[in-house]
Amino acid sequence: MPVWGVAPLFLFVIKNGTPLGAYDNVTAALNSPLPPYLTAQPADLQRAADLLRQGECVALPTETVYGLAADALNEQAVAKIFAIKGRPLVDPLIVHVLDLSALARLAVPDARLEQIAGWWPGPLTVVLRRRSVVPDLVTAGQNTVAIRIPAHPLFREVLQRSGCPLAAPSANPFGYISPTQAGHVRTSLAERCPWIVDGGACEHGLESTILDLSQPDRVRLLRPGPITLEALQQKLGPIEVWQRAAPAQQAQLAPGMLERHYSPRTAVKLFPQGTVPTVEAGAAVVFLQRPAALTGAVFYLSELGGVEAAAPHLFALLRQLDERGFAQIYVELAAPVGLGLAYNDRLTRAAAR
Ligand code: AMP
Ligand code: MG
Repeated sequence: MPVWGVAPLFLFVIKNGTPLGAYDNVTAALNSPLPPYLTAQPADLQRAADLLRQGECVALPTETVYGLAADALNEQAVAKIFAIKGRPLVDPLIVHVLDLSALARLAVPDARLEQIAGWWPGPLTVVLRRRSVVPDLVTAGQNTVAIRIPAHPLFREVLQRSGCPLAAPSANPFGYISPTQAGHVRTSLAERCPWIVDGGACEHGLESTILDLSQPDRVRLLRPGPITLEALQQKLGPIEVWQRAAPAQQAQLAPGMLERHYSPRTAVKLFPQGTVPTVEAGAAVVFLQRPAALTGAVFYLSELGGVEAAAPHLFALLRQLDERGFAQIYVELAAPVGLGLAYNDRLTRAAAR
């Protein structure tokens, strides 16, 4: 096995003392007739930008997960995103821009942006009233648009070179676990997405926080993420936490809120933090931190740290375990505060059947 392909991030994910790596992804990439990954080299980033300007889709790294990007103002390009992902057209996309002045061309700025602009560039998406230049396909026909100013240097470089705002949902088939490495994109989208910029593993490994500022008198958290509810409340005061709606309404507002989402094929079961579950034969168990005993198919997401250290590795580990034919995957929940809200949210949706 090509040990050079093992990202250092995985070295502490241990099964019976054996490091697990991203071997499958590396092998898939080596055997593939697809073009090699685009790199951080200027010529490659220019290539990515040119493809985007020509209306093609390119997978790009962000600080949250890998995004499947297209020119947000080109309706045909945006349509390709939906086709590649198998994403329902009622699920609106997040548009990524370089700065606040680019944001103001697509959405009506809100005074409350001043309070939160300190998190930008970063993993925070804001829903605002749209301008008419934004295609209906991007917003699912709503009068609002979701906008983010991402921090990842390669994404920003491509944004700058392309000159387009980029619509970019996670670069995975609709409903599956979001990709946090270039290899995840290649494995699950293959020839549907030949162009991938490889930026290594994503820093946060969970999707952005989504905050709805589209109404003047209320602030709503639509999706918990790396910018925590508590931190946002300190700046903005009270925030409503959006609860999942009845299935019939879900697609309209925030289909990322679908109960079953981010799911591996293997059944996921959850257990409270600090407990040890009783599991059936053939199950894998995932702890937040290294447990005292490592017997059986036991995995962990961080050596010592809490959910902050664990969360960036969650999706990659779920993908690896999903390939291994376990009967179930048991995963430890975090305390439901701070980043634990986002971590638990993704796990709860992965576990929904
Ligand atoms: P993804 O980029 O795949 O993580 O998903 C983006 C998510 O952003 C969608 O599934 C919605 O939950 C949310 N979103 C995007 N645009 C809007 C909007 N205009 N109003 C409310 N939520 C939105
Ligand atoms: Mg997604």
